[in-house]
Amino acid sequence: MSVQHARAPAVETVEAPAKRGFEFLNVPGPTNIPGRILNAMHRPALDFSGPEFIALSKQIFEDLKPVFKTEGNVFIYAANGHGAWEAALSNTLSPGDSILVPETGNFSASWADMAEALELRVVTVPSDWRRAIDPNAVEDALRKDTGHAIKAVLMVHTDTATGITSDIQALRGAIDAAGHPALFMVDAIASLATVDLRMDEWNVDVAIAASQKGMMLPPGAAFVAAGERALKAHAASSMPKRYWDWGDRMAKEHYRKFCGTAPEHLIFGLREAIDMLNEETLDGAFARHARLAEAVRRCVECWCAAGALQFNAVNPLERANAVTTILLPPDVDTETVRAMCRDHYRVSVGGGLGKLMGKAFRIGHMGDMNEPMILGCLGAVEAALKRLGMPLGEGGIGAAVDWLSHPAEAR
Ligand SMILES: *Cc1c(COP(=O)(O)O)cnc(C)c1O
Repeated sequence: MSVQHARAPAVETVEAPAKRGFEFLNVPGPTNIPGRILNAMHRPALDFSGPEFIALSKQIFEDLKPVFKTEGNVFIYAANGHGAWEAALSNTLSPGDSILVPETGNFSASWADMAEALELRVVTVPSDWRRAIDPNAVEDALRKDTGHAIKAVLMVHTDTATGITSDIQALRGAIDAAGHPALFMVDAIASLATVDLRMDEWNVDVAIAASQKGMMLPPGAAFVAAGERALKAHAASSMPKRYWDWGDRMAKEHYRKFCGTAPEHLIFGLREAIDMLNEETLDGAFARHARLAEAVRRCVECWCAAGALQFNAVNPLERANAVTTILLPPDVDTETVRAMCRDHYRVSVGGGLGKLMGKAFRIGHMGDMNEPMILGCLGAVEAALKRLGMPLGEGGIGAAVDWLSHPAEAR
């Protein structure tokens, strides 16, 4: 070993400090799991075809409906969000069908990829990932489809890669204005229980979600809500499927609702999560997300004043309440920022995805989150960025505190 290597390492490579106190999880999924949910899951398994579990899960299927604001059917899968994507497509479409997937970011791209693997033909409305989907562009794309070859419009509500939320109600309006009969499917994985989604009122035919984001649960459960038109499409769909098939899951025998053993512990946790949301109310959860997200935005806006960092979302009104995506200067790699935050300040932030890989980091603020958690995260991230020598505008944390010092109000 050379003398040089034997020298004391520079400050930044000194071993990370002892792991004491809370670890802050500010990735945009999985999110923090509240103690109440962990405790509810800490119990022995049940006979999944016995009366206790059947009564519990029957009630869960009912109680998920108001979370989606639908009277339709809700299906529960032992799967992650990708499973929900496949369930939505395979139940309603047939190989060779065309679908319209407006480009919101990495998640619309991945859903479209999956659709292609299932032999669907993807038409897109391109975007630069920095703005919400323009309903007029969707309307134009549908008007061009005079023969109604497009069978479904797949829309990601909040794209977790870009930190942008699109206006689902306006997109429904665009489909109606074009007089197009395509099904309207919404990926609400990052929006369920974080921002309003009115499935029936907004005429959404299929809405999908997963357990590990706004629902505060461990990963492993996927939810697919289907309205009447979607169930009609299911009857005509020829895409091969078994595990995902709604037909089996609508059978009388309860055990068929899960196509095998139910993910019981996720159901125990889900019971607690729904109870917690009902105590807070959905509107309360939306307002909390809006308030905390605004604290993040006010802080980040101050940081950006020095010109090194930028919001990915150009339009402030389109910035998501679930996650904030921050662009880094070209000479700084995401992993350097993530490692500094994680190893020295005990806060995990997300990296950039797809086109933004290596170019952005993301602060997740959805799920079980409150003021001290968000302030702790922002303070730690600011310290990490300063330590890396990032030029930052002053006053970020103060701006967040200032915003939170006012009575609760949504933007
Ligand atoms: C997290 C996420 C997904 C993917 O979910 P997985 O559980 O990782 O499969 C899809 N869409 C959106 C909008 C997401 O936030």
